[in-house]
Amino acid sequence: MALVNPKKYFDVAIKKKYAISQFNFYNLESAIAILNAAKKLNSIVILGVTEKAIKYAGLDNIISIAKNTSNNLKINVILHLDHGRDEKIIKDCIKKGFTSVMVDGSHLNFNENIKLTKKIVNYAHKYNVFVEAELGQLKGNEDGIVSDVNKYTNPLQAKIFVEKTNCDSLAIAIGTSHGAYKFTGNANLKFDILKEIRKLVKIPLVLHGASSVYKETIDTANKYGAKLKDVKGVSDSDLKKAVLFGIQKINTDTDLRLAFNTSIRKTASLKPEIFDPRYILSEAILEMQKICEHKIKILKSQNTI
Ligand SMILES: [Zn+2]
Repeated sequence: MALVNPKKYFDVAIKKKYAISQFNFYNLESAIAILNAAKKLNSIVILGVTEKAIKYAGLDNIISIAKNTSNNLKINVILHLDHGRDEKIIKDCIKKGFTSVMVDGSHLNFNENIKLTKKIVNYAHKYNVFVEAELGQLKGNEDGIVSDVNKYTNPLQAKIFVEKTNCDSLAIAIGTSHGAYKFTGNANLKFDILKEIRKLVKIPLVLHGASSVYKETIDTANKYGAKLKDVKGVSDSDLKKAVLFGIQKINTDTDLRLAFNTSIRKTASLKPEIFDPRYILSEAILEMQKICEHKIKILKSQNTI
């Protein structure tokens, strides 16, 4: 059992029209929740790590948690750097055993993005590490990566970008958004742009900012003291459509944070006599695991490990 390169899994995902989940983690509990779900449903998953998560937990701890937890469960897993912007962090991750990295040059102009991505691709491929790049911009805030604009990916530019950089997968902007406050009105994903990109680009396509922000989770959190107003996400039916039209990887972070937060509030409120963190966190693991299992089923990646 090991940390594995995602390429062969994506090849199958393209053929069989399903998508692989990336779930972001930053501590033992989130890793256990994600990998328990993967084990239960026999699904390949991607453990995503942001630069902020590395600063929080430490790179060596992150790697140990991913390796040891997947070993204990006897499953393969992909360890992936999400939104890599710091070249030193990207290279450290590659050298220390990550099997996939994202180089995020989406804030740069087209040519600068190509230049940075190409440089990372050349470096990563020497280590047999998979590289996701991004073209276009998503609104919102992902662990400190903030953008207040929404720039849809241009399909023709996507084709040129992939040819010039030789990246292994491409994150595209079709109207999703990072965080829990995704939309002011209804979600309006540009599936026509996705279809166009899918025709022109052969590598796996990735959807970020795709948490669903489930109403039930929000209502429960608010019932137990949270103040989450006007939060909105991408519906399960939109996620299914995205997969049908050619997305092979969908990222989830906010939904796991919300599940964690809701569970901690609920347990503290309903069982005020309990103060053992292991009890409180075990409940939170179960709630996060439920979200992971649900996403895996929505994206149809059961029995892919
Ligand atoms: Zn993202």
